[in-house]
Amino acid sequence: MTVVERFIKYAKFDTESNPETGITPSTPGQMVLAREIEKELREMGLEDITLDDNAYLMATLPANTDKKVPVIGFIAHLDTSPDLTGKDVNPRIVNNYDGGDVVLNKDTNVILSPKDFPEMLDYKGQDLIVTDGNTLLGADDKAGIAEIITAIKYLQEHPEIKHGKIRIAFNPDEEIGLGAHKFDVEKFGCEWAYTMDGGPIGELEYENFNAAGVKINIQGRSVHPGYAKDKMTNALVVANKLISLLPESDRPEHTTGYEGFFHLTNVSGTVDSATIGYIIRDHDRDLFKARKQLMHDTVDFINKLYPESTTIEIKDQYYNMREKVEPVKHIVDVAFEAMVAVGVTPIVKPIRGGTDGAQLSFKGLPCPNIFGGGHNFHGRYEFIPVQSMEKAVEVIVKIAELVAR
Ligand SMILES: [Zn+2]
Repeated sequence: MTVVERFIKYAKFDTESNPETGITPSTPGQMVLAREIEKELREMGLEDITLDDNAYLMATLPANTDKKVPVIGFIAHLDTSPDLTGKDVNPRIVNNYDGGDVVLNKDTNVILSPKDFPEMLDYKGQDLIVTDGNTLLGADDKAGIAEIITAIKYLQEHPEIKHGKIRIAFNPDEEIGLGAHKFDVEKFGCEWAYTMDGGPIGELEYENFNAAGVKINIQGRSVHPGYAKDKMTNALVVANKLISLLPESDRPEHTTGYEGFFHLTNVSGTVDSATIGYIIRDHDRDLFKARKQLMHDTVDFINKLYPESTTIEIKDQYYNMREKVEPVKHIVDVAFEAMVAVGVTPIVKPIRGGTDGAQLSFKGLPCPNIFGGGHNFHGRYEFIPVQSMEKAVEVIVKIAELVAR
């Protein structure tokens, strides 16, 4: 199977994760895919294959040299984002992309256009895998899975490439921030690893956001509107007020690079009560703290306007891995060197998000992130160039080779 065939096969499994179920994996589809991949790994003859009850799948490609080489790992996640359905994903390959509009869906008039996504033009003449306009594609992160397995297969078939012991792992629930929670770093047993979970070709990342989730509850006082004067507190009005107090400039749609944000993720409620969800992101630890403080201060102010109406709960989700990776910077350097060796220009930049690697780094497994090749993750405009996937496979093979030198 080619990397493309593998990817398309995995893309058809519905593995959308769900932040509400409270179990791991958060959805049963992830285990279904894990079992299928487990079967493939057995057929390939890999060793130490384990699939635990939480859908963490691990396997080993043994070393083919007597040299003492550090054990390294490659990791990708099974789930797709709950932002858009991952059911009935129907990938299509646009061969020899001509630089024009790609009609994803005639009926619903969904068009993937370089007018909206000018980076498409970088891939003129290449082959793009796109959606049918109804679902996400799931290149995040099934491209990563396909690339890792294809690279391992390549190493098996090319024993002249000497490498140390290589571990691979596929985990559930990355998209809901829980991919690393039940990841058994000790069992994985690597000196370091890479997540194949980055975006466009060349991406190499070892800095990510510090992240927190915020839940705000508002208790209003519902009274018949005809008799409400000086009695009613409308929870929806309070919610609206609170949202309006946070800085408009610090929203995802207005920020880039190292700029952090407050992102309103949901509002729901009635006159009687309402809940608001936010996520807070910042690369800088101090600014991150300051953002959480501002959130608390805002709620305090709301409680001055509407006494005892509002409560807030802020939970840290993950931290910037930079502090864990910088002391072992050579693990980034070897990935950089591997990319250059296979003709990929490395793009080292801070992630405006998190990866499993961030949490793994804090659990003792330093874990930079490498491109999977896709664009426009989490939506119907997601696409991935075939040639980027093929390069990702080459990068994995080259890293294995370089580490053994
Ligand atoms: Zn991902």
